[in-house]
Amino acid sequence: MTLPSLRILKNARVYAPEPLGLRDVLVAHGKVLALSLPGQGALTALAEESLDLEGRLLVPGLVDSLTHITGGGGEDGFVSRTPPMRLGDAIEAGVTTVAGALGTDRIGQSLNTLYAEVMRLRGLGLGAYLYTGSYHVPPVTLTGDVQRDLVLVEPVIGVGEIAIADHRGSQPSVEELARIAADAQVGGMLAGKSGRVLVHVGPHESGLDRLFQVAQETAVPLHRFYPTHVNRNRALFAQAERFAEAGGHVDLTASTNEKLLQAGEVSCAEGLVRWLRRGLPRDRITFSTDGHASLPVFNDEGGVVGLEVGRMSSLIDALRCCVLEARLPLESALAPVTSNPARILGLKTKGRLAEGMDADMLVLEPETLALHGVVLGGRVALWEGERRLREAFE
Ligand code: ZN
Repeated sequence: MTLPSLRILKNARVYAPEPLGLRDVLVAHGKVLALSLPGQGALTALAEESLDLEGRLLVPGLVDSLTHITGGGGEDGFVSRTPPMRLGDAIEAGVTTVAGALGTDRIGQSLNTLYAEVMRLRGLGLGAYLYTGSYHVPPVTLTGDVQRDLVLVEPVIGVGEIAIADHRGSQPSVEELARIAADAQVGGMLAGKSGRVLVHVGPHESGLDRLFQVAQETAVPLHRFYPTHVNRNRALFAQAERFAEAGGHVDLTASTNEKLLQAGEVSCAEGLVRWLRRGLPRDRITFSTDGHASLPVFNDEGGVVGLEVGRMSSLIDALRCCVLEARLPLESALAPVTSNPARILGLKTKGRLAEGMDADMLVLEPETLALHGVVLGGRVALWEGERRLREAFE
């Protein structure tokens, strides 16, 4: 007898992200059904497909808390609009869950299109969500109201990126930020969502000041906010450490380059090493790709002198750097790209390997952490480095 879509991954060295040792992992209907000791699973013989991992690593699929799914745009005119994310970009980067945001451009890009892309990606098996709003204040919304978006539109999980400390933002006041955070909190509460406000933090020296001010002057707690790009310079990263000590959580951008690092950006690996060494709360730090964002390089007058695009592969590159170069334990390096973002964003079935969780998993080579396979919602999307799952028009 064969049960439909019952699949087993044998002899996997599982990191859930905590190490579980060798396991046979049974998958059905897109979920992890059981993690049993090798050869001891009761349903093993009934599996339709059996894949022997031969001791390779099996880890949760990466959760990217900031992806510009529809592309970003136009910071040096229309020709500089960045391309949208395709399913293959995520699969080949080991990203199985994305949270999309508009970013700077709320005119040439729209929440309607972002919503449609999220639903399209879901139809293909990817975990996909979106933030309502953009850099701009008051936030653009789907239904005319932040609370209503959160309550009535299922894939909306929060608001963002709201920009602070950046010449491209609306320079929001304490009152404006407090109002958005309160709307996100109430909307999230009514809908059973985490209702975070993802905050784009620009390079201005005010950094996170405005968020600390909101927490001091109003009833909004720091953990309502989820500031990103906090590794863009050392002063901001030091502020982010204080932010987490005071109860907040922070996100580091993995897309970087030599020029940015030379200019003082803190790499994810360096940031995490420092974080753990200082004994900061290890569940309050995440990495994201800022995938498909335009990453402009500005001169002193605010003119654009260079453009790059956020890479989806930056997340797994950061994971490799943490383990292979910074020599952190795999479980410590996995948390900021799996269980931490899933918990902060309230994605209850994502970011961990356990019975009942979504079967989003990566198979990694133990020595190099090269991507051997990707399982997306129980389906094999990539195997032996070759993509098996494609979208229409590819
Ligand atoms: Zn941003």
